[in-house]
Amino acid sequence: LSVADSAKIVVQPPARASTRRHRVVIVGGGFGGLRAAKALVTAPVEITLIDRTNHHLFQPLLYQVATGVLSPGQIAPALRSLFRGNRNVNVLLGDVAGIDLERRVVRTASTGEREVPYDTLIVAAGASHSYFGRDHWAKFAPGMKTLDDAAVLRSRILLAFEMADQEPDPTRRAAWLTFAIVGAGPTGVELAGQIALLAHRVLRHEYRRAEPRQARVVLLDGAPRVLGTFAPRLSERARNALEDLGVAVTLKSEVVDIDGDGVVVSDGIGHTQRIGARTVVWAAGVQASPLGAQLAARCGAELDRAGRLHVAPDLSLPGRPEVFAIGDMISLPGVPGTAQPAIQQGKYVAQVIRARLRGEARPPSFAYRDLGSMAMIGRNQAVAELFARVGLWGLPAFLAWGAIHLAYLVGWGSRVETVARWGWTLLARNRRERLISLTGLAGAESIVRELEQTLGTSMDGHDSRSEPFEAAR
Ligand SMILES: Cc1cc2nc3c(=O)[nH]c(=O)nc-3n(C[C@H](O)[C@H](O)[C@H](O)COP(=O)(O)OP(=O)(O)OC[C@H]3O[C@@H](n4cnc5c(N)ncnc54)[C@H](O)[C@@H]3O)c2cc1C
Repeated sequence: LSVADSAKIVVQPPARASTRRHRVVIVGGGFGGLRAAKALVTAPVEITLIDRTNHHLFQPLLYQVATGVLSPGQIAPALRSLFRGNRNVNVLLGDVAGIDLERRVVRTASTGEREVPYDTLIVAAGASHSYFGRDHWAKFAPGMKTLDDAAVLRSRILLAFEMADQEPDPTRRAAWLTFAIVGAGPTGVELAGQIALLAHRVLRHEYRRAEPRQARVVLLDGAPRVLGTFAPRLSERARNALEDLGVAVTLKSEVVDIDGDGVVVSDGIGHTQRIGARTVVWAAGVQASPLGAQLAARCGAELDRAGRLHVAPDLSLPGRPEVFAIGDMISLPGVPGTAQPAIQQGKYVAQVIRARLRGEARPPSFAYRDLGSMAMIGRNQAVAELFARVGLWGLPAFLAWGAIHLAYLVGWGSRVETVARWGWTLLARNRRERLISLTGLAGAESIVRELEQTLGTSMDGHDSRSEPFEAAR
């Protein structure tokens, strides 16, 4: 489908005699899907927004849930509540398992199999972690993509300090107090900074045997600098700020193995080193939603190595002008996999759909406007690159980071609560969300076994101390 051809296509609005309005189905209520839905609520369409979760997740602040600063609800408003006043929007909890492009139906699986018909479809299903073919690392090095992931990480991070406090052997205690983060992009950098602050400032007077100030936070990456997509001088500033917080930044080091006791890194010239760490976090690769590959197989679109779809200049699929894909699941030259492109694409496809319904020509091809990127490192420390030109660091970047994150957080309630919580965290030098959820440890069998020994009870509520006694009888 050439650009000229796709510009000519107009999807017919329903015939005058029909009472049925044009049906737009949106798969995914993340940054792209939510923005598309919001931009279409006043159009003459019926919108069905399908998501496998009941909330819109503000992923850029997930690391603050994982480190006890924010509560899950503050960054994840219920999707349904965001469309309370829009009678033409139906929010549907469902896991989309398949899309039939011929019959124009979306098939959901999680709430009993059902088909949702569409006239126009927007697929905005995002991406998940990629372990570059080593999926068995996932149970030793969880990633952070969902609220559940953040809850698991919070439990594992906080539990590590508890286990260290009860561990008499200094070597084993040191392993509990070592946190290895794989991937020095924005997520890895922000997480490393927050874990270092937690250990060295928040928890330092709270334990009697473990000494949280001795905790090691190791940030690992194969690249030569942190925040590789930022200007080199900002990377340098970020690295210095991390080191000031006590993070050991270990670059040009490829992770070659991960197990329950730590990571093995190679310097690429024949030297390998094991780092003993009971908490390893994966912040490295991403893989587009499998729905991308499914669509590619059905319409002949190409995929890149991360499984992202190549789309037409108006973000539709080749030969399928009524189906759009947006956000992290598509690949456009020079466009990063971040929130801004997803938001801009959501708005853009809404414009295309509105133009088609009015019988107007397609708006010009999608063009990404780079508003910049930023990463927060610690108290008063951040780096920001605005409009791909202006570099900020230190307090100005920290303030810009706060203002921009608040502006994009959905809902005034969440904004007010978040400001209050940030203020409290800074002033009290404490964290409000410090619950360890044992259900969050599913998958971390070796940790669960040790915890059972420490507590003398089994995770299913059975008291393991009675077993030797029972056996002796
Ligand atoms: C930890 C972390 C930190 C980040 N930090 C930043 C940052 O600081 N700045 C920045 O710009 N970007 C950041 N990003 C990236 C940014 O969040 C993404 O680029 C953005 O969310 C992409 O939007 P999207 O709409 O494509 O996908 P998402 O926002 O991921 O939304 C996808 C939605 O689809 C739903 N879904 C997926 N599959 C299905 C299915 N089969 N059926 C039904 N529903 C489905 C999901 O539940 C989800 O709600 C971060 C990402 C992560 C994970």
